[in-house]
Amino acid sequence: MNFLSELTGSFSQNSASNPTVEMVEAAYRHHKLDYRYINCEITPEQLADAVKGARAMSWAGFNCSQPHKVEVIKYLDGLGESAALMGAVNCVVRRDGKYIGENTDGKGFLESLKIVVDPKDKNIVILGAGGAARAIAIELALAGATEITIANRDSNRGNELVDLINGKTKTKGHFFKWDSPFKVPSNIDILVNATSVGMAPHDDERINLDVESLRANLVVADVIVNPPNTHLLSDAKAKGCKVIGGLGMIVNQGILGVKYWTGITADAGVMRDALAKVL
Ligand code: NDP
Repeated sequence: MNFLSELTGSFSQNSASNPTVEMVEAAYRHHKLDYRYINCEITPEQLADAVKGARAMSWAGFNCSQPHKVEVIKYLDGLGESAALMGAVNCVVRRDGKYIGENTDGKGFLESLKIVVDPKDKNIVILGAGGAARAIAIELALAGATEITIANRDSNRGNELVDLINGKTKTKGHFFKWDSPFKVPSNIDILVNATSVGMAPHDDERINLDVESLRANLVVADVIVNPPNTHLLSDAKAKGCKVIGGLGMIVNQGILGVKYWTGITADAGVMRDALAKVL
């Protein structure tokens, strides 16, 4: 089947608000790429047929969000390195007619972080052990972090991620049972909030953290996109830390997706502006 434009898009269960559409379409327009990015609402029961449909129509690729990130793997032809380690895919790419699963969640974070600090040989604490924490932890481990401590309320989830770090990467993983205000140890270089605490509409919710343990030589990153300036980032700034917000992570994911599908490195400013307009 042939289309005038190359097709890409997003398979998500709730497609009502997906800011990636505006961001990626803005990049296609800016670079005069004959591509479209289509938002598709796909239930778990429809996922197999949706991937078949993308294959039949020779889509250049697509993003997928929860609950499809693990399930989609069984319908693909192969996985990139970090997606294979994480066991989760959020970006599918057609390469020589084969559909390969990649994970750009952690890669997008890493690109943002590297502007401020190289995680190689660094000691890192990640708050949370969900999908975002998992992607970030694996990417930081592959980038050469010395130690990663996972602080999480749920021990099973936290220990599962620590086992993955210790079993599949050269980085030393530790678990911290997070049931009291977290005190950042003095040997830590980078603190990452990968929980959903503080995300709109619960902007006022605060991370269970001993703010006095934030030191000026610490880099503090937050994955929360909305609001762009969280309580954690404000507290960290007030203590003199370097801070990184979640917007860069999502823009970098968009840039990586566009690069995978079209070969073009998209203009970050254009994508950031498009995203800012819809957030
Ligand atoms: P998950 O549901 O998979 O994981 C949520 C995590 O947050 C769990 O570790 C959970 O702990 C923890 N958590 C939730 N509430 C609390 C609380 N009150 N106190 C302590 N820990 C808490 O979500 P995701 O990992 O997919 O997403 C997490 C955040 O990352 C979301 O806000 C999402 O929007 C953001 N995100 C941002 C991206 C970006 O590009 N900037 C990309 C992807 C995600 P427990 O296991 O103990 O329940």
